[in-house]
Amino acid sequence: MPDVSLIRSELLAWYDAHARSLVWRAPPGAEGRSEPYRVWLSEVMLQQTTTPHATPYFLNFTARWPTVSDLAAAEDADVMAAWAGLGYYARARNLLACARAVAGEHGGVFPDTEAGLLALPGVGAYTAAAVAAIAFDRAANVVDGNVERVMARLFAVETPVPAARPELKRLAERFVTDCRPGDWAQALMDLGATVCRPKSPLCGSCPVTNQCLGFAGGTPERYPVKLKKAERPHRKGFAWVMIDGQGRAALQRRPDKGLLGGMLGLPTSDWSAEPDGSPPVAADWREAGAIEHVFTHFSLTLTVRVAHAAPDGDYEWRDFETARAALPTVFAKALDRAGEPALI
Ligand code: SF4
Repeated sequence: MPDVSLIRSELLAWYDAHARSLVWRAPPGAEGRSEPYRVWLSEVMLQQTTTPHATPYFLNFTARWPTVSDLAAAEDADVMAAWAGLGYYARARNLLACARAVAGEHGGVFPDTEAGLLALPGVGAYTAAAVAAIAFDRAANVVDGNVERVMARLFAVETPVPAARPELKRLAERFVTDCRPGDWAQALMDLGATVCRPKSPLCGSCPVTNQCLGFAGGTPERYPVKLKKAERPHRKGFAWVMIDGQGRAALQRRPDKGLLGGMLGLPTSDWSAEPDGSPPVAADWREAGAIEHVFTHFSLTLTVRVAHAAPDGDYEWRDFETARAALPTVFAKALDRAGEPALI
């Protein structure tokens, strides 16, 4: 079993020597911690994008709005414009809401506990833990995708994600102590970002190789285990294109419940491994080929058969053009396969 305290001391020593230099970060072991405003702002930006992409945005924001109260007083439109290129404008709106809560309700000072931070608008569990640990040196368990990956590899966790998440969080919790919690959180982040990378981890440069069960097993990149996407089953079916004397096709309203419920469609067989190929009426049916269509849960080969027929029944008769516009894609494709009425 990996030795938790040994991993802690080796990783913290590695961090002291190799910490990334980031514009929002205080150096390892710094007397003055990173400013909460800078930590919070950087963490919100980093939820959207990578460190190199976030850096100029961070510099611009902190130059224009050096404190959380400055940001709180900014015009919405200015903040939105400065956020452009970072995506997800909801985040920018949350950012402003949080800044205004800190300025208006907390005198411009961020709460210094995880619970206090979590109570701010738009601040989730990860951001609250990260700010508590990094800005206030609180013993908070900061778990993002990087940390999950490192834990899954260190402990060779065989449970696939996402089911493994609570277990990975519990494992990460074992490392959290009152000794340098901010540096610990950042050391893990740096390890995940630069060494224990998603693909091709640099185990040769890793300070905890000798404690890593994933490395010992020979295939660390196998972790975190992911379930293979279930293969989509394949089904077959027939679509019947009946054309009346005016060149109109027979459409049918589908039952409200089920796939494409309540929408117009062509008359079809069942869609299964062995569909029933009996046509809805006796006629001189001609084979027009088949179309392929992929639904979320299965793929379909639909064989299209065409005949001149105008039976009574629950049909809506539409010319091809308006039929195509009214039909879901799968049936529009089948109608196209049937060809033009004049040529049938
Ligand atoms: Fe990650 Fe390799 Fe280090 Fe294990 S030894 S923590 S897999 S980089």
